[in-house]
Amino acid sequence: MLLSRLLICLLVVLPSLLSPQARAAAPETPTRSMLERSRAAMRSDPEQGRKLAEQALADLDQAGAAADPDALVLAHWLLCDYHAERDRAAAEVHLGQARALLPRAPRLRASLLGCEGDLRELAGDSVQAMALYEQSVAVAEQMHEDEQRADGLYRRGYLRGVRGEFANGLFDLRLANQLYERLGMPQQALTSLNAIAILYNRMGDHAQARYYFEAALKAQQAAGLRREQAVTQHNLGRALENLKDWDAAQHAFEAVLALSREIGYPRGEAYALRGLASVRNARGDAAGALGLLDQASELHHRTPDERLRAQILLQRGIAMRLLRRPAEALSALGEAQKVFSSADSRAELATTYGELATALSDQGDWRGAFEQQQKYKAVSDELLHRQLDQRFATLKVEFDSAAKDKENQLLMREKAATERALDQERRAGALRAVVIALAALLVVVMGVLVWRHRRTSHRMQDLAMTDELTHLPNRRHVLGRLQGLLAQAQPCALLIVDLDFFKMINDAHGHLVGDDILRAIATVLRDSGRAPVELGRLGGEEFIVVLPEVDLDTAIAAAERLRLKVAELDVSRWLPDRNITISIGITLAESGDTVSSVLRRADEALYEAKRGGRNRCVARIGAMGLPPARGAAAAEAPAPTVPAGSVTS
Ligand code: GH3
Ligand code: MG
Ligand code: MG
Repeated sequence: MLLSRLLICLLVVLPSLLSPQARAAAPETPTRSMLERSRAAMRSDPEQGRKLAEQALADLDQAGAAADPDALVLAHWLLCDYHAERDRAAAEVHLGQARALLPRAPRLRASLLGCEGDLRELAGDSVQAMALYEQSVAVAEQMHEDEQRADGLYRRGYLRGVRGEFANGLFDLRLANQLYERLGMPQQALTSLNAIAILYNRMGDHAQARYYFEAALKAQQAAGLRREQAVTQHNLGRALENLKDWDAAQHAFEAVLALSREIGYPRGEAYALRGLASVRNARGDAAGALGLLDQASELHHRTPDERLRAQILLQRGIAMRLLRRPAEALSALGEAQKVFSSADSRAELATTYGELATALSDQGDWRGAFEQQQKYKAVSDELLHRQLDQRFATLKVEFDSAAKDKENQLLMREKAATERALDQERRAGALRAVVIALAALLVVVMGVLVWRHRRTSHRMQDLAMTDELTHLPNRRHVLGRLQGLLAQAQPCALLIVDLDFFKMINDAHGHLVGDDILRAIATVLRDSGRAPVELGRLGGEEFIVVLPEVDLDTAIAAAERLRLKVAELDVSRWLPDRNITISIGITLAESGDTVSSVLRRADEALYEAKRGGRNRCVARIGAMGLPPARGAAAAEAPAPTVPAGSVTS
């Protein structure tokens, strides 16, 4: 069985090292192409493969320091794998040399761990071998080397199967198979399928195993792959042996023997001879079996393989027992049992215990026979349980994987739906935000527009009601107020203020100075009157003052105050040589008065003030007639003479 394992390993691992991916990383050199040919030859003619690898190595050694370290590691690895099942010491030497190169060429680290594991496995140390395969898988995973990872999984899965960990073994082998398929390596994928069939065989499902082996065999025959064919044929022989289909088993082992001789493969011959001996034993031809086993042992001496040695010993023990040579039978079986125990080969161990029990009972050692029988039963039961457990576990792994796939699909679908919904919600949210932002913007714009409109209309209104030059209310505004008071029959006094000789100022100093003086007078008037006094510019150099709720005296007094204030105004910056004076016409609104009648009366009073010499206040009351006394008195207030060109108070 180990032969199959090794052959399969070799066939699986070698091509991967020279796969297009690996080759792509290195330039195509004569040495590289020689290594490639070596790899190809290993599948059909291992001796030729070895020669090519050795030639490449010699060339590389000659190149000295210039040698491609990756190619060196590859050559040593090829030779390590070649010698692993032929000459352990030589394999160890190549392994050591390859390892020394790893710091410079680390790519094949996982593969080297695999070869090292092979050597430990061949020496019967399954525990150490398993640890190395574990490492190999981990390293390949870490380095993202899928081919080497598949190789590691293949080795580990196979050994797990040998140790009865069928479910885990199957898991590894399936993963390896999938990786090979994905990497476009159909031969390796097929070989890993064969390993799965071997596992079925170990699990006791020989019929299923036989089916897979026969299918693989056809594919290999069609492709002319004779070495793979030999391996598969041997595995088929084992399945048939388990099925106790002795004719078919014999046929298979004979084919293996012929093929192995053709391709010069002594280990293959040894395995085939052991198989044929098993068939002979089953048929009761113990002598014939012994002859074949002698040949097998002869071949085995040249090849280190503990499990093969134990299998030969097992068949020898059976033959000796059949030949009624119990001592020799017991010795052979005892030795076989030790190897199977340490290699943890449960099925072979059970068979060996059974044979030991029979041999001891033949000898009359009932106690010993009973003990061996008990061990046989324990291992068989354990194996059976393990097979059942593992079958269950396998089914569980299968079911779990299928369920996981389904669950993943559902999750993916759910995730996609959720993402779609989220996306829609996001879009709706974004749209909502845009709408809200636009609405807010609209509100702001509307607000600004309304505010501007209001401001503009206020301004318009202000403009319509304000005198531009003095910023006092204009004629329309003040007269409007006056009309309001008259309509309500509210008592009020009206003052018309006129600047004296203003034309002369304009003429002498210019209109701009005139404007400045008008503004200055407006300020004096504004500062002198308090609400509810209404003040405005009547036009030109005339102002109007409306004093609600006052009698004539108060009006005259107010007018007089204004006159004095203006007279006191310092206008030296415009008129260095004179002051400004004003004349004021005063009247009281009476019942029946209109705006124009009251204006006219005030105007008449003003005219009188002008005529009276200016810089004075004159009151005039209407026909309705309040006594004109106070107004006259005011009119008769000191009225200084105003010489042309100067105003004095
Ligand atoms: P009186 O003492 O008789 O009132 O003499 P006066 O020169 O002040 O009166 P008159 O009616 O003869 O002249 C008024 C002048 O006021 C005429 C015009 O040039 C001037 N005036 C009217 N409106 C404005 C104005 O807005 N700015 C300036 N600078 N002058 C104005
Ligand atoms: Mg005037
Ligand atoms: Mg005037």
